[in-house]
Amino acid sequence: MYLPDFDYYSPATVHDACLTLARLEGGGRVLAGGTDLLPQMKNGTLAPTALVSLKEIRELGDIAYVPGRGVVIGARATQNGLVRSAALQERYPAVCETAHGMANNQVRNRGTIGGNLVSAVPSADLPPILIALGASVTVAAPGQTRSIPLESFFVRPRCSVIAPDQVVTEVVIPDQATTGSAYIKFGLRRSGALAVVGVAVSVVARGMHVDEVRIVLGAVSPTPVRACEAEGLLKGNTVTEGLLEEVGRAAGQGCRPITDIRGSDEYRRDMVAVFTRRAIRKALGLADGTGRSR
Ligand SMILES: Cc1cc2nc3c(=O)[nH]c(=O)nc-3n(C[C@H](O)[C@H](O)[C@H](O)COP(=O)(O)OP(=O)(O)OC[C@H]3O[C@@H](n4cnc5c(N)ncnc54)[C@H](O)[C@@H]3O)c2cc1C
Repeated sequence: MYLPDFDYYSPATVHDACLTLARLEGGGRVLAGGTDLLPQMKNGTLAPTALVSLKEIRELGDIAYVPGRGVVIGARATQNGLVRSAALQERYPAVCETAHGMANNQVRNRGTIGGNLVSAVPSADLPPILIALGASVTVAAPGQTRSIPLESFFVRPRCSVIAPDQVVTEVVIPDQATTGSAYIKFGLRRSGALAVVGVAVSVVARGMHVDEVRIVLGAVSPTPVRACEAEGLLKGNTVTEGLLEEVGRAAGQGCRPITDIRGSDEYRRDMVAVFTRRAIRKALGLADGTGRSR
C-alpha cells in the first residue's frame, strides 16, 4: 500500500500553520508523528490534499511546570517525551506510566500527545488519565486561541470539537490537591495492545477517606466518559471492600460498551468493574487487588 500524492507544508509558527490550513479549506491535515494519520492514508480511509507538519514548530515539543498554570505539555511532545519528563514524573507520574504502557518504543518515539487526543479514538490511553487530572487543551485558530476542558473535547469516535483549520498547541494539567492517580488498561496482549477497557482515577484522600474523586472510563463508550454515579458513591466516604464492589458495579453499569472482536459488551462491563476497583486501590497507594502493591 502506497501513500497517495499530497502537498507538504512545514510552517515555522503556529500562526502560519493555522493560515495554511485555512487556505486549504478543509482539504489539509495536521501531521504530527504520523502513527495514526499515515496508516489511514495508506489504507485509503483518508485522502487529504495536503499535510501541514508541526515538526519545525520547536516550542510545541516542550514539557514544563509553569507556576500558576500547572504542567504545560506541548502538543508535539511524544509519548516517550511524557515518559521521561521530570515535571510529570515529579507531579503526575501516572501520566508517565500511562505513556510507557502505550504501543512500542518505535511508536512512542513518534506518536504525540496532540495526535492521541485529536484522533479521538475511543480506546486511546491518554484521554482518561488527562481528564481524571482535569486537563484542558489550548487550541489555536487563525487570529485566536481558546482553552477547552478535555472533558468536553470529544464528540464521537474520530471526531473532536476542533475545526480543520485549528491546531492543538498544548495540554495543561492544572495545579491541584490530588493525592494520587492511576490509569490501568486491559488489553489482549502484554504490550502494544489497544485498550479493551481503560480506567483512570484521581483522588484527594486522607488515608482511606476519599474527599474528592474522578473516575474516567476509556474504550467502553463512543468517547471517554466520567463514571459519575460511581464517583458519587465514593466521594466523602471511607473505602471498604464492600464499597469498592459497589463502586465498580456502578461504573460497569454506567458505560455503553460495544461488542467487537476484542470483547462483548457484557465482558467489558465486568472488566470495568474489576479495573475500576484496581485503579482506585492503586490511586490510594494500596495493593491493587492482583497481589501486587505499589
Ligand atoms: C503499532 C501502533 C500501536 C499503537 N498503540 C497505541 C496504544 O497503545 N495506545 C494509544 O492510545 N494509541 C496507540 N496507537 C495510536 C497512535 O500511535 C497514538 O494515538 C499517537 O499518539 C498518535 O499521535 P501522532 O502524533 O502519531 O498523530 P498523527 O498520526 O500525526 O495525527 C493523528 C490525527 O491527529 C491530528 N493532529 C495531530 N496533532 C495535531 C495537533 N496538534 N492539532 C490538530 N490536529 C492534530 C492529525 O491531523 C490526525 O488527524 C498505536 C499506533 C500504532 C501504529
